[in-house]
Amino acid sequence: MSWWPVALAGLGALAFSARYHWWRSRQSGAPVLMYHQIVQELDSTPLPKLRVPPQAFARQLGTLAQRGFKVMSLSQALEAEPGDRVAALTFDDAFQDFADNAWPLIKARGMGATVFVVTSQIGGSNVWDQGKGIPSVPLLDAEQIKELAAQGVEFGGHGHQHRDLTSLSPGELAQDLAACQETLSGLLGKPARGFAYPYGLFNDGVKQAVARAGFSAACSTRPGMLAADTDSLAIPRIIVKRSDQALDFALKLSRTKSRW
Ligand SMILES: [Zn+2]
Repeated sequence: MSWWPVALAGLGALAFSARYHWWRSRQSGAPVLMYHQIVQELDSTPLPKLRVPPQAFARQLGTLAQRGFKVMSLSQALEAEPGDRVAALTFDDAFQDFADNAWPLIKARGMGATVFVVTSQIGGSNVWDQGKGIPSVPLLDAEQIKELAAQGVEFGGHGHQHRDLTSLSPGELAQDLAACQETLSGLLGKPARGFAYPYGLFNDGVKQAVARAGFSAACSTRPGMLAADTDSLAIPRIIVKRSDQALDFALKLSRTKSRW
């Protein structure tokens, strides 16, 4: 009897396990998925992981539907009945490609989503990324935001200037968050509920300031599920990357991570 087929199978299984963490235990709760851009082009960005191609995004929505998830905005997910199989879609930075490439696919499936806006740059671009070799990308303008809101998209805050909120003085922090909420309320005709911390950075002081500015649900970038005992000002999310294959995405929906 030859040993090598067994050894090869063993090595193959090890390699598979190292790439795909199928052995992670399932986690209960709702996945809150985090996206940035839905675009095919890379335009030499140093952050290709944050650009998911439209075809891959469409397949991911199909996977969610096949698996019986009701896919909705963050606020709707927070109000879902316990036991409902729910997933939320979130988009940071409010890039124009949300309107062009993401929303038509989401809307066609009757799903919902939340978009987090950098309020000083409505109709502008990702100026906070400049100087890092990241290409300039246009952001949703006021008319687009109003139109999308009328179609059911939830909009939340992502800071007025996309600054690291943990680096600001208490005065600067309060000012940035007040400007963010005022701008959104003015545009939407009601206070925005959701917030996403720029760069995922926050501490207790930042959380309190976000709540004082009228936001009651804030998203981090820490991996995990939205569950009944989740701190609503530190909601974990699952980052969906350009490199994610179908198996990565499926594993993330139940285990929050597919690999390290
Ligand atoms: Zn951002």
